[in-house]
Amino acid sequence: MSAEVSIACKYESFNTLIKINDPELLLEVFLSQLIPEYGSNIQVEIFERKGAEWQKNIVNGCSSSDFDEDRQFILLHKIDPDKTKTWFYQPSQNGWYCAYKPLSSRQYAMFISIDSPDNIIDEDYIQLLFGFYCHQLCSLEGTYRDNQTGLYNRKAFDLRMDSLLHNHNMSRRNNPCNPSFFVMLDIDNFKDINDTYGHLYGDEVLTIIAKLMNDSFREYDLLFRYGGEEFSVVLMDIDDEICKQVLNRFRLKVENYDYPKPDKVTISLGYTNFNRELTVGQLIDQADRALYFSKENGRNATHKYQDLVKQKSISAI
Ligand code: GH3
Ligand code: MG
Ligand code: MG
Repeated sequence: MSAEVSIACKYESFNTLIKINDPELLLEVFLSQLIPEYGSNIQVEIFERKGAEWQKNIVNGCSSSDFDEDRQFILLHKIDPDKTKTWFYQPSQNGWYCAYKPLSSRQYAMFISIDSPDNIIDEDYIQLLFGFYCHQLCSLEGTYRDNQTGLYNRKAFDLRMDSLLHNHNMSRRNNPCNPSFFVMLDIDNFKDINDTYGHLYGDEVLTIIAKLMNDSFREYDLLFRYGGEEFSVVLMDIDDEICKQVLNRFRLKVENYDYPKPDKVTISLGYTNFNRELTVGQLIDQADRALYFSKENGRNATHKYQDLVKQKSISAI
């Protein structure tokens, strides 16, 4: 048994899947590909390393066994956090562990087992599935992440927004998945930062803002670099008051951060209810109007589209 797994894929149907762009949808389709081969006996679990722990992302198949201590122990002790690819058979659980670390700092593991003693999973098949999974993660990471900030890029934005608006509750994750608010944010007077300290320092500021976003929002909120010095966020399952607090706390965090150069960096924000009856364009337009209002009224501020319309500060779209 080799520790290295080829990522070549010999089945055309899997190659077709590579064209699916949405990560959630991809996993749905990927898992459904297993069913015809092995009936309901196969079980697939996908885990992601979160700091010192592993967290279960997706479960499929016959028995969705609990994420017990044994499994956590095996994941923690048998999978080297620095190794790109690991795979081994675990006799006590009668299944295969395959772990993969794509380009970024993320590490995923897949556990594949079969219930029936009459059915043995072909090692080639495991290799194929795992190879395919690695390939997917690799291309998703490369295609949908912004190199500079590590956030989702504009391409990912278009796909995710479309799927959030049109595929209700498609997520299998145990995470909140109802979008509540759509936020646009833009760095204030960023041109001046570039002009004063140079473009390289401007890039550093963009990276710091992205890091602060990652630190401030929850892992299931969606963070995008919309373009240039503009970012957008989809906040999941959160109410109006908390949303306001979270956004203002983030704005203050940006303002108070200890930047390498003496000048303060601030951001302006605009946000709107994630109304699924609207198009992506309309959501962007609403958040943009609120953002523009923040810019026009002194910058370093957060405003909500619906509040501004109600108080007649802006017109409705
Ligand atoms: P405002 O407060 O109104 O947003 O003013 P601003 O100066 O931030 O906005 P403006 O649109 O005038 O300028 C945005 C600048 O952002 C211009 C562009 O050169 C710079 N920019 C866009 N992308 C990047 C990038 O990747 N790196 C750097 N360093 N600068 C960038
Ligand atoms: Mg700006
Ligand atoms: Mg801008």
